[in-house]
Amino acid sequence: MNERLNRLANLPLRDNLQGLEPYGAPQIDVPIQLNVNENTHPLPAEVHRAIVEEVTAAAVGLNRYPDREFTELRERLATYLGHGLTPENIWAGNGSNEVLQQILQAFGGPGRSVMGFPPTYSMYPLLASGTDTAYIAGQRSPGYGLTAADAAEQVRKAAPNIVFLCSPNNPTGTALGLDVVEAVYEAGAASNTIVIVDEAYAEFAHTGTPSALSLLPGRERLIVSRTMSKAFALAGARVGYLAAAPEVTDAIRLVRLPYHLSAVTQATANAALKHVDALLANVEDIKVQRDRIVNELTRMGLSPASSDSNFVFFGGINDTGAIWEGLLEAGVIIRDVGIPGHLRVTAGTEAETTTFLVRLEELLNQAP
Ligand code: PMP
Repeated sequence: MNERLNRLANLPLRDNLQGLEPYGAPQIDVPIQLNVNENTHPLPAEVHRAIVEEVTAAAVGLNRYPDREFTELRERLATYLGHGLTPENIWAGNGSNEVLQQILQAFGGPGRSVMGFPPTYSMYPLLASGTDTAYIAGQRSPGYGLTAADAAEQVRKAAPNIVFLCSPNNPTGTALGLDVVEAVYEAGAASNTIVIVDEAYAEFAHTGTPSALSLLPGRERLIVSRTMSKAFALAGARVGYLAAAPEVTDAIRLVRLPYHLSAVTQATANAALKHVDALLANVEDIKVQRDRIVNELTRMGLSPASSDSNFVFFGGINDTGAIWEGLLEAGVIIRDVGIPGHLRVTAGTEAETTTFLVRLEELLNQAP
């Protein structure tokens, strides 16, 4: 690999990509994968059947380019989101990562900046470097919280072109109050800042947690991004989307590649969205496992963060490397997000969660 890196250095790579490593959690083939916040429940049979049928029908027309405007998908996503949204408010891409990249291509770029509040989704700085947008790291309070006044003050000072607010936040799992979104939006008025609320995990939030979708009317600089990868158990299909003012989707049309959403992708997503109730069937079960993890980790003397997502971030670990390795030996992979004393685990099925909890407790008891 070193030799390859040396050879890469001979190529005329852009300055801001020099020395970078590609992003990605280790893909290790173990029985219990709780490291990348996937939905660990398989697709319900009825959804699987519907996808196979619709993809089969779509395959007949694969000699043609797909619907460039993915009209049916935008209609279905608008209906799913509610909040009075129409297809003109919706855009979709190959995962919300692509949607976020498209937003940065349209509103970021050389000479522009994007602000995030680490610890947060680790793709934000990489999307920034990929689009040659300067990344500004904001500050959270010591417990990783973010108050409206504090966030607004930082945005006012930095005056970035774009702000990422991740709610529920990855890796901490906690949702932001809408007061934070409103305050950041107001603070960005002078600098005409685009505010992205990344709600990849919104469906797992505690009942009553409001979505930033409710703030969209009258706020043309606000974008709410979502994904079918998590609650909908469709990570492999690569479908993410956003809701925003129609002029935002018009801006993204200027940078998107024509026909970026394949006919197979559109058929998969459309078929799944015809069965929303079945698709979301496992969300409640995952929330039960998530709350069980929080309770059990607390009982073990660890300090889990309050979670509105399908994963739990917890501190109080002396030797994160030893715990991570010990779990891996037992066939359970979780995530070391590089924050000392902390690890992150995705809520699995009941059986997977049990294996994780039992093994973790054994490891904690063995620790010197
Ligand atoms: N946002 C957040 C906060 C995430 O954690 C992830 C996936 N880990 C994504 C966006 C991207 O997901 P996808 O591209 O699968 O939609």
